[in-house]
Amino acid sequence: MMQVDLHGGFGEKGRTSVALRSANSHILLDVGIKVGASGREYYPAIDKGIETIDALLLSHAHEDHVGALSWFLAQGYSGPIYMTEETRDEAPATLAHYADAAQLKQFPFPRDRVELFRPGDTLTIGDFTIRTGRSGHVVGGVWFAVGNGQETVVYAGDVLPDSKVFVMDPLPSCDLLILDASYGADPVSGGARADAIATWIAEHPKGCLLPTPLFGRSLELLAIMPKRFAIHASMRQALASQIAATDALYPKAVERLKHQLASAIDWHDGEPLPDCPLLADDGMGTAGPSATLIPLADASNYPVLLTGHLPASSPGDLLYRAGRAGWIRMPTHPTLSGNMDIWHRSGEPPVLGHSCTPYMLDDLTLHIPSLRIDARTGQSLTLREGKIA
Ligand SMILES: [Zn+2]
Repeated sequence: MMQVDLHGGFGEKGRTSVALRSANSHILLDVGIKVGASGREYYPAIDKGIETIDALLLSHAHEDHVGALSWFLAQGYSGPIYMTEETRDEAPATLAHYADAAQLKQFPFPRDRVELFRPGDTLTIGDFTIRTGRSGHVVGGVWFAVGNGQETVVYAGDVLPDSKVFVMDPLPSCDLLILDASYGADPVSGGARADAIATWIAEHPKGCLLPTPLFGRSLELLAIMPKRFAIHASMRQALASQIAATDALYPKAVERLKHQLASAIDWHDGEPLPDCPLLADDGMGTAGPSATLIPLADASNYPVLLTGHLPASSPGDLLYRAGRAGWIRMPTHPTLSGNMDIWHRSGEPPVLGHSCTPYMLDDLTLHIPSLRIDARTGQSLTLREGKIA
């Protein structure tokens, strides 16, 4: 028997966090924050039982999976924290942006409590055997398959099955599948979106701005840039180090990306906007060079194309809703075919979907009938003999 506590990210996007409990063990998977929420809603709904948690495991360093780490330490968590090397290296920057400043000062990123593992490793924590695999979502990102000898729960975290750049390892069969439902039942594949973005760029030959997060999606965009394009100079090192993580990438993509980065023009603040596509982080204009570049481009009638998730009222969202920017989403999460495929391969078990609204779950259940559309943050479910109640 396993108990599954939905602490965040169910019926909502953000603050992703799930606990699994067996007779003698208790682990927490991810501890994110919710962009756009305030007060208690910003953090996972973990109100008791923190002292019995044996380990925290982090899937990757995005804010909706790791941003509540300082808050969680402030609540009294004192155990080990498992993550990959890349997550360890990126998490402090995420906390700097998204943690409460006073809390972060008192509870900084606890390097001495980090237990490193590599994607593909199997961990043993109490009763649990935990398999891991590459997520395809970001370098160093992983999924978790947690077994207690009777049942197996797969927590996909954020995954990307149809990337041309990042490798995703197949998920094992399981008794409960917690899917990345960020895009609901979006039927348009990654390849088709990439083609649409390339076409949009070709239609704006005098230059355009493409805000993008420093990690993950930037490599997908880099791969489809035309011959002549620019990057904000501050991105070069982070892009190079991601391309150097060849374990996470398809060999063919590595060659293409190295060539693309070598030929990219470095653009510096203060220079005139270039007459070619310009990549600058972050993806929504809340931080990084794009926080100043988006208003500058808008004031200069320089076209802007947004390609990712836009939290309500972020600068990118406001610009798009005012009709002054294009938006073509480059998938960094599964589209419909990807999630259908994951579900079939894992033996069509009961499914929970994280990181989307109830309305999007309704769409997805038309294709995945074993999806529970009523799962919400704050609920606790029991998995027993392959049945979830
Ligand atoms: Zn993510």
